[in-house]
Amino acid sequence: MILKGFNELRVFLETPKNIVIIGHRNPDGDAVGSTLALRHYLDKKGHTATVVMPNDYPDFLHWLPGSDTTYRFDWQNNQSQKAIQKSDIIFLLDFNTLHRVGSDMQNTLEKYPNDFVMIDHHQQPDDMKYMYSDVSICSTSQMVYQFIEMNSDLSLIDKDIATCLYTGIMTDTGSFRFRSTTSLTHRIIADLIDKGAQNDRIHSNVYDANSYNRLLLLGQALSNLQILPEYNTAFITLTDEEKKRFDFQKGDTEGVVNYALSLKGIIFAAIFIEDKEQNIIKISFRSKGTFSVNKFARNHFNGGGHDNASGGRSELSMEETIANFSSLLQNYKTELETSCEI
Ligand code: 5GP
Ligand code: MN
Repeated sequence: MILKGFNELRVFLETPKNIVIIGHRNPDGDAVGSTLALRHYLDKKGHTATVVMPNDYPDFLHWLPGSDTTYRFDWQNNQSQKAIQKSDIIFLLDFNTLHRVGSDMQNTLEKYPNDFVMIDHHQQPDDMKYMYSDVSICSTSQMVYQFIEMNSDLSLIDKDIATCLYTGIMTDTGSFRFRSTTSLTHRIIADLIDKGAQNDRIHSNVYDANSYNRLLLLGQALSNLQILPEYNTAFITLTDEEKKRFDFQKGDTEGVVNYALSLKGIIFAAIFIEDKEQNIIKISFRSKGTFSVNKFARNHFNGGGHDNASGGRSELSMEETIANFSSLLQNYKTELETSCEI
């Protein structure tokens, strides 16, 4: 755990400030939940806080309180740049290195004259003036709760803040089932329910929002699933043509990789998704036990993340990417065989 400069930060925040809060590119539930929750909290403390996301997020997160007044850097560039220029400090939430916001926004942030505060749970964070980094915590949203607690402000958590934090914790823990979900996580979740988070409504807003095409795309993904039993590995592919056929929308492939991981005996799963716009194959990795997909993504696919959930990219074709992936597995055979041994 790294906690750096937070006493100084507390003094800095004693007078009202203009604050910008940023999540990573292609924001997920934790990025959106943690940034919006922090914004509501800082507003309540008398600051003027604005959330600027690098780009848009899936429809199933648009209902979150405050979502309608966030900026997307890519298509609301003027407003976003103005908010950044006007700000006294920027909070970076749910990412560990500036390039995770994408190159355009990264260029802007690299010229930013004031300080950054990073609150994040990914491994190997960049050094910032103010930092709260803890890779053992399940979600940035739980860290925002703990940040509010550090300031002795838990009584300021209202229904909106509770709803945003609940959503972030829920989505980053696979609905409270991953190893990172601790008894403390459950205690925090209980407190958020007491403070107004409607758990049934949040689950159904996020998970029962499928379109017919999304289910058909899932069907296609499952029929593309391949198993490599000698490596306890399964993977899924989706081509651009398949995405178009089922009217792919942002967020439609979220969670699909978990179907590969749900197979009995599988401890390493991947999904390879062709992105013709960026001309890359975007990859998500998931694992069970000690096999670190963070290291795997870092070493071979220009990515990173957590020990059991990471992502990366390939600039080769789909066929070449799969061939490369399959051949790499030989080097990990022992690790893949022993990952789930206690
Ligand atoms: P997902 O597969 O859900 O997109 O991402 C899983 C985890 O890996 C998330 O914590 C995410 O932040 C991280 N991740 C995904 N893609 C990348 C990437 O390209 N680079 C890095 N460093 N982390 C990634
Ligand atoms: Mn997260």
